[in-house]
Amino acid sequence: MTTGRARIRGLTVPVHSLNTLIIGSGAAALNAAVRLHEVGQRDIAILTERWTAGTSRNAGSDKQTYYKLSLAGDVPDSPFDMARDLAAGGSMHGEIALCEAQNSLPAFFHLVRLGVPFPHDVFGAYVGYKTDHDPRQRATSAGPLTSRLMWEALAREAARKKIMIFDRHQAVALLTGGRGDAKKAVGAVAIDLRKSGSRTFGFVLYNAVNVVLATGGPAGIYRDSVYPLGQTGSHGLAFEAGAWAQNLTESQYGLASLKFRWNLSGSYQQVIPRYISRDRNGRDEREFLNDHFPDMGTLASAIFRKGYQWPFDPRKAASYGSSLIDLLVHRERIVKGRRVFLDYARNPSGGGKHADFSIGLLVEEARTYLERSGALQATPIERLRRLNRPAVDLFRAHRIDLGREPLEIGVCAQHNNGGFKCNIWWESNVRHLFPVGEVNGSHGVTRPGGSALNAGQVGSLRAAQFIAGRYRGRPLPLKAFLALAGPRISETIAFAQSGLDRKPGRALDLRAALAALRKRMSACGALVRDPVEVARECPKAWELVAQTLNELVIPDRASAAAAFRLKDLALTHALYLEAIKEYLEKGGKSRGSYFVPSSKGERPCPTLEDGWRFELGRAGDFASGRILEIGLDEAGRVRKAWRETRPVPRTDPWFEAVWDDFREDRIIKEEG
Ligand SMILES: Cc1cc2nc3c(=O)[nH]c(=O)nc-3n(C[C@H](O)[C@H](O)[C@H](O)COP(=O)(O)OP(=O)(O)OC[C@H]3O[C@@H](n4cnc5c(N)ncnc54)[C@H](O)[C@@H]3O)c2cc1C
Repeated sequence: MTTGRARIRGLTVPVHSLNTLIIGSGAAALNAAVRLHEVGQRDIAILTERWTAGTSRNAGSDKQTYYKLSLAGDVPDSPFDMARDLAAGGSMHGEIALCEAQNSLPAFFHLVRLGVPFPHDVFGAYVGYKTDHDPRQRATSAGPLTSRLMWEALAREAARKKIMIFDRHQAVALLTGGRGDAKKAVGAVAIDLRKSGSRTFGFVLYNAVNVVLATGGPAGIYRDSVYPLGQTGSHGLAFEAGAWAQNLTESQYGLASLKFRWNLSGSYQQVIPRYISRDRNGRDEREFLNDHFPDMGTLASAIFRKGYQWPFDPRKAASYGSSLIDLLVHRERIVKGRRVFLDYARNPSGGGKHADFSIGLLVEEARTYLERSGALQATPIERLRRLNRPAVDLFRAHRIDLGREPLEIGVCAQHNNGGFKCNIWWESNVRHLFPVGEVNGSHGVTRPGGSALNAGQVGSLRAAQFIAGRYRGRPLPLKAFLALAGPRISETIAFAQSGLDRKPGRALDLRAALAALRKRMSACGALVRDPVEVARECPKAWELVAQTLNELVIPDRASAAAAFRLKDLALTHALYLEAIKEYLEKGGKSRGSYFVPSSKGERPCPTLEDGWRFELGRAGDFASGRILEIGLDEAGRVRKAWRETRPVPRTDPWFEAVWDDFREDRIIKEEG
């Protein structure tokens, strides 16, 4: 890497020139850096707003899962079978599924070699278990903090390899050259957050041959979220650069605690806590689920099942399935404006409507589970202590005593299956730009649990292989870089300068704007997507985008980074809503992890109002079998396209032919 200086719009700022800039420091980013180093590309640097931020480092769950090819015992498996299962949820391209399946073992053993303690038996078998949407036993786990253990192992390796890190740097723009299919990434603009109060706002330029974008999921667009607090995402950067996204409509939502963000899956539900709601003043406590379930046995059994049916699934909403609970929690909070809690101190009571809870009322499966686990104690908290004491300790470590205070909950955003599209080397439609990890939208409508972590490791490996194989070159000479990227750099700096110059008047308040967009997404762009509300809110989302560009007042230089963040999130939420609107306009129904009200459908249960009628998406529907792509054109206009989903390719590899291609360096080649 070399460092020079440039003078733009009256500011003199540093310019770092290097082969590959990796943005983010989650498990995908760190793996990209480690893998690039391993394959011989050392002219690299990681740029991150905060080294320890992000989902990988800070999220977990009951048993955080990693998905890979089956490796143990007599469970037969093959990369093709795994690819078909990855793609089985619909709207996932087959060749991407095949890459993720084929490379799952190299990715997994890389982590094992770096010290991630995935369990194996006395014979060395990395045994697995079945996770959701998994017909084999492909799942493994290193415990509740698998992704953190991955992060720690990769961070140790990055330190050992002395990979350059720009910590406390927020990327605020991607730089590109060329147009249309010839458009390519040539670097980025960032703010050095330690210098953001200075005359230059802390602007730093990066002149790079390649940019690996590993900025994670779009956490910052939701109010109700179980993404860790420090994670916001930066999809707006890539949209502005002309990258196209796909499947933005497909995210996962489920029940989580709000004060300390944590999934309430597994034993948190299997001990059957009491669901209550209160008005905003903490009064008028009600066990609201009693109004909708026919008897205590059915209700308690649905709560139990929520443990292993965590994400909302519209197929489990009718017939008193576990997902009816998510809908009723959403209705209580978002529609009725009340607050919902889980009470572990007391058992559910029938409130005069039904019998009070007792173990004997549970379905056989739930009763046997609790009996065999010795968890037949009198209250939910006692059962939880018996079943999973660390689950109780975890909340205590965050100053929440589950035995004393009811836990406030909501239906929260957890993961986006969609994101930026890529080819089989994880290169986006903008050449030299590689979205890896959750910012990449490789998954379809559903995905097997644990496949997000696998996809992040595989995608970053593929990007590293391609960069080392084909994009090894040196960055542009400084003069040429500034000639190419100058206008965009100027525009970026101007956004900060004009925000600072603007007089407070009918100023757009940063915090209020952020709160508004998050409320909008959680109300109509998350679990429940009412076509009428989405159509009404979409123009308001674009209005906010325009306001952030034209009316935002930046009170001081140090606030410029937050202003860029707002601009990014405003654009991101507008494009997510556009994608949802398009899906609904094409007649898209409830699927994946969301609920679309539809007057022609059935009610999930007879006590719910007509507005809760819904239909499930079916195989022959327009949206099934297709993938919705969305992006911005050169003029900043929204463009959408529906693509047929490509099947898993049937390859018939003949060893001698592959060997020949391999020796002649014909394996890694530019793709469309
Ligand atoms: C509660 C929870 C449980 C989960 N459980 C599972 C599971 O069991 N199995 C599974 O497979 N997946 C699971 N996931 C999903 C999985 O953890 C994530 O998809 C994955 O960790 C994302 O990794 P990443 O490297 O892409 O992004 P992250 O780890 O989120 O990292 C993103 C990085 O980008 C940085 N960044 C963002 N914007 C900028 C910017 N503008 N400038 C500089 N830096 C920036 C962030 O600070 C961060 O360092 C779970 C997610 C959650 C929230």
